[in-house]
Amino acid sequence: MKMLFSSPQSAEVGLLKDLLDKAGIPCEVRNENAYSNFPGAAFYPELWILNDDDFAKASQIRDTLCGTSSENLDSWVCPACGEKSEGQFSSCWKCGADRSADTK
Ligand SMILES: [Zn+2]
Repeated sequence: MKMLFSSPQSAEVGLLKDLLDKAGIPCEVRNENAYSNFPGAAFYPELWILNDDDFAKASQIRDTLCGTSSENLDSWVCPACGEKSEGQFSSCWKCGADRSADTK
């Protein structure tokens, strides 16, 4: 049994658990309620993989999830006018071009 993921945001842990459930990987959330029981305590929800054999596959799913969310927060360069925008914007602050018109 190995811990795969821990986050102060239980929503992230829950999202990852959903993905693992769909992938057929047995997993378990611990400390789920610790955060609300002890505000400010350094106990974050943890996601544990029950079978060590599943850990590599589970890591890939986690990386996909985390990689996607951090990528979305990176700043990006407008394909239309070249202005740099913050990651939370989905369109250019200057000319309004859609971010999805980017290289992807
Ligand atoms: Zn632009």
